[in-house]
Amino acid sequence: MQAVSLDDMRAVGAYLSGHFLLSSGLHSPNYLQCALYLASPAAAEAAGRQLAARLRGHAPNLVMAPALGGIVIGHEVARALGVRFFFTERWEGVMTLRRGFAVPPNARVLVVEDVVTTGGSTREVMAVVEGQGGVVVGVGAIVNRSGQENPFAPLPFAALLEVQIPTYPPETCPLCQQGLPLEKPGSRR
Ligand SMILES: [Zn+2]
Repeated sequence: MQAVSLDDMRAVGAYLSGHFLLSSGLHSPNYLQCALYLASPAAAEAAGRQLAARLRGHAPNLVMAPALGGIVIGHEVARALGVRFFFTERWEGVMTLRRGFAVPPNARVLVVEDVVTTGGSTREVMAVVEGQGGVVVGVGAIVNRSGQENPFAPLPFAALLEVQIPTYPPETCPLCQQGLPLEKPGSRR
C-alpha cells in the first residue's frame, strides 16, 4: 500500500511552489491545499483506507475530526474502519461537539486531521473527547508538517506524508530579496 506522495499532491495543484503570502501574513516558497487532493473521492477513500490500516490496531470504535478540514478524511477513515464519524466545530471560538453528536461512555476515539501543523486543533478535539468521558487511542493525518515525528507522543500517530514548509516574515524573506513576485494562494488559474 502506497502512502500519499508530494507528486500526487502536485499533480492536482494541492502543492504549489513559488512565493506565497499566507493568511498568517508570513511568506512561503510552498503552499499546501489538502482540499484539492481530497476533491477526488477515490483519492480521499484511498487515503482513508491507508490511515485506517495504520491505526486499526488501536481498536478505535469512533472517529472524530475538526470541521472543516478534517471532515472528508475523517469520514473516509471511519468508513474504512466500519465505525461512526463525528465532527467538532468552533462555536464562539470554542471547539464543540454539536448537532446531537455525543461521545458514548468508554468510546475509543481516533482523532483525524487533514494537515497537522501545530497540532492545536487536534488537541482541541482530544479535549472534547476527554471532556465527554471518551479515550483518545490515536491520531491520524494525511500530512504531517509539524517538523516532529510524533507531535502527540506518547499517543500513536500516523501520517501519510511528511512535509517541511518553510515560512518567513516579510522583512527577512529570501524570496522577496530575490525579487520573486508574491502570489496569494488560489489566485492562479
Ligand atoms: Zn517574500
